Formats: sequence, structure tokens, C-alpha cells
Amino acid sequence: MADKPKDLYEILGVNKNATDDELKKAYKKLAKKYHPDLNRDDPKTAEAKMKEINVAYDILKDPQKRAQYDQFGHAAFQPGGGGGAGSTGGFDFNDIFGGGAGGFDMGDIFDQFFGGGRRSSRTRQAGPERGADLRYDLTISFEDAAFGKEMDIKVPRDENCTECDGTGAAKGTSPETCPDCHGSGMRQTTTRTPFGMISNARPCDRCHGTGKIIKTPCSHCHGSGKTRVERQIHINIPKGVDNGNRLRIANGGQQGTRGGADGDLYVYINIKPHPIFTRDGIDVHCEIPITFVQAALGATVDAPTLDGRIDLKIPEGTQSGTILKIRGRGIQKLRGEGRGDEFVKIKVLTPKNLSAYQRKLLQDFEKGGSENNNPEQKSFLDKLKGLFN
Ligand SMILES: [Zn+2]
Ligand SMILES: [Zn+2]
Repeated sequence: MADKPKDLYEILGVNKNATDDELKKAYKKLAKKYHPDLNRDDPKTAEAKMKEINVAYDILKDPQKRAQYDQFGHAAFQPGGGGGAGSTGGFDFNDIFGGGAGGFDMGDIFDQFFGGGRRSSRTRQAGPERGADLRYDLTISFEDAAFGKEMDIKVPRDENCTECDGTGAAKGTSPETCPDCHGSGMRQTTTRTPFGMISNARPCDRCHGTGKIIKTPCSHCHGSGKTRVERQIHINIPKGVDNGNRLRIANGGQQGTRGGADGDLYVYINIKPHPIFTRDGIDVHCEIPITFVQAALGATVDAPTLDGRIDLKIPEGTQSGTILKIRGRGIQKLRGEGRGDEFVKIKVLTPKNLSAYQRKLLQDFEKGGSENNNPEQKSFLDKLKGLFN
């Protein structure tokens, strides 16, 4: 039973000099590959593999733990690891492995990474257990973010199989205590090392840490005790939400077990870009192109706002790049009164493809003397003269 522990770098498929970024990439890639949802034909192996990957990453992502591992190997992280690891301030084995009874909860990690959970089939000993929280990524329109919206979303979660009441055993049968670990779910091994005797607890191979084995699996859930259910949940998106805001829906997460409360659902808001507007907090920005004649003479143009078109007065002599403010046409303050403003950047267009007649008109205009019309140009030319004389 003295299995030599696998090298942590090997588990993640990186070399010993891997940067934090490389570690993270390798971890994410493997976590996706061994997601039990993608390995339905052999979820147990995938789950075991996943645990291994999680443990390796947990150690290597932490510079202090990584340094200890590099120096002492696995002995750095095991109880009774002798003076070597202890004297360098080793940390508690249980930090990572969760100790004998608890164990690693995969559900949380999957929820984090894949936006939908699949609880580990591992059952904790007795007592009610709260369901895991779930994450749901929701993309909404620019306007819905500005004005709020009520909508229904469909959130998948795992619920106790109704055929077998979540036991995973076929009707009329029940799970039996695992003869290998006598129901504890863990196997203890002891190894002699230069640091002393090291006792190492790991999940039981036979029952995969559940402490129970199922002789005849429930035909409905194939022994997992869980079925995937899509729940419709009504949500109320408040006015003024922004990218990255999250809404908490109490009890919208995974089902609790043995009478525990359901987890919560976190809806992460992602806002689609708008064809005209961009957003800056509660203010909105847009750009309106006008002709140089409109800019010179002044005009009233159609301006878009979140509430529809309005007349916008362009003052005579408006320069390109001028920003006009339309008060109160921005986005509603989240949890507050009032709205932001809209800022319109004026873009003056230079005409192209002039006809002979238009060309003549402009040449005559220029001949008429434009110095007084363009004071900025005059002052620029004066500065230029001063520079080279
Ligand atoms: Zn067992
Ligand atoms: Zn079932």
C-alpha cells in the first residue's frame, strides 16, 4: 500500500520552472478535461483525477508551499513529517486534504469554473449540509441594464433523484457499507521516510471515498443519486446595473442534503455593447457627425438618447470634438434617485467628392478672406512664424 506519491509538476504536466501563469493555464486545461460532466462514461476516474489536479495546484500556486515542496517533496505536507518540514514552518496537511472526515469538495470548484455545478457524489458523515452556491452568467442589453428588467432564467442544478430518494440504489435495495474502509471512506497508509514514519490518509479506492457501495444502481440516476434539473427562476434586474455586478438569489443554488438549506445563486451581469452608446458609470457617451455647414451656421439635429430621439441644438461655429451635454439622459443610479447625463461629441465632416460648382463656391469662400473666421489658425500661423525667424 506504500504508493509513491506522484510528482505534483507531473500531475499538472508542467516543468519545475513553470511560471504562475503556466501553472494556471495547465490547471484550467486539465480541470476542463476532467470535468465529470464531460466524462460521463467514467465519472469516478475523472473525479479522482480532478482531486489530484486540485491538490497539486493548491500547493504549487502558493509560493511558500511550492518552495517547501521543491525542497522536501511530499514530506513537507504530511503530518509527523519530522524536523525537516516543521522547522521551515510547514503548514497543516488538513489545509489541503481536508482531513479524514471532511474531504475535498469538488462542487465548489466546478461552480467557480464552469458556471454550473455538479456535486461530488461523496457524502459527508451525518448532519444537514447546505447546497453549493451556483454562478450564472447573464448577458443583457444596454437598455435593460439602464432601465432594469424582470425576466425568467433557466438554471440547471442537481437534485436528489426522486426514484431512489438520492441514495443511488435501485428501488427496494439500499447502499451497503464498504467492506474495505468499513464506511469511513478513507484508507490509512504508513510510509517510512528520512523524516520519520509518515501516515497518509487517502480516499478509499473501492468506494471512492463515499464509505458506501451500491450493488444495484438506480436505473434513473445510474447510481449517482442526483438528477439534473432545469429550474426556472424569476429575477428582477435593477435599474443601473453595470458589467460585473452580481445579483444574489437566495436559495437559487444547489439543493441541500439531509435537510440542509439550498445554496444561493449568483447572477453575474454582462452587458452587450450598444451600437451608438458607450457607458461610463451612470453617464452615456455618443458621437454625432454633422456637416461643416451645419457646424458653421448652427443647426438642430436628431440626437439619440436612451429614451428616443430628441432635437439637439448645435450652436453656430461649433468645432469638431466639441462635447455637448444632455442633462438627465444617462443611466439610472443603482439603488438611488436620479440619472446620469448624456455627452454628445460632435464630429464635423469634411466634404468629399465635390462637384465643379461646389469647388468654385468654396474657392470663392476662401478668397473672401477666412482669417477672421478661423482665429485658431491665425494664432497657430503666428506662432509658427515666431519659431523660425
Ligand atoms: Zn470504502
Ligand atoms: Zn436514483
